[in-house]
Amino acid sequence: MIRTGIGYDVHRLVPERPLILAGVRIPHTSGLLGHSDADVLTHAIIDALLGAAALGDIGAHFPDDDERYRDARSLVLLEEVSSLLRARGFAVVNVDATVVLERPRLRPHINQMRLNLARTLSITLDQVSVKATTSEGVGFVGREEGAAAYAVCSLQRMVADP
Ligand code: MG
Repeated sequence: MIRTGIGYDVHRLVPERPLILAGVRIPHTSGLLGHSDADVLTHAIIDALLGAAALGDIGAHFPDDDERYRDARSLVLLEEVSSLLRARGFAVVNVDATVVLERPRLRPHINQMRLNLARTLSITLDQVSVKATTSEGVGFVGREEGAAAYAVCSLQRMVADP
């Protein structure tokens, strides 16, 4: 059986924070604010994966008032979700995501993001798609107040429910 999930996340852009997307540190004058490393792309993907398995959301698994997750690398959280899915008999079929960010242009970093995600999920590069778009100057992304990410994924259940 194939199951589909959707994820969405937003983080605020502020000075003097690193800009990290799918574990790639991207040179920029501002970065995303959050309890963890605020990797908005990885957070959207985590919610898509959890959603496809009907296992709740990122806030339920990694509460933002839990000191264990302060400045946590989101790829580590993704790895935990990957293990959880595997334990429940799910295999990731594919992930597709879009980052919405006004600046900087992300194209030079897209392949490294895909590599990081594929490696963390123990899947192949062709199972991971990352796209980037701007907001054409409109709204909170256009004003460079924040970034958003959308993700969908499909899972295949490899074993019957325990
Ligand atoms: Mg988040």
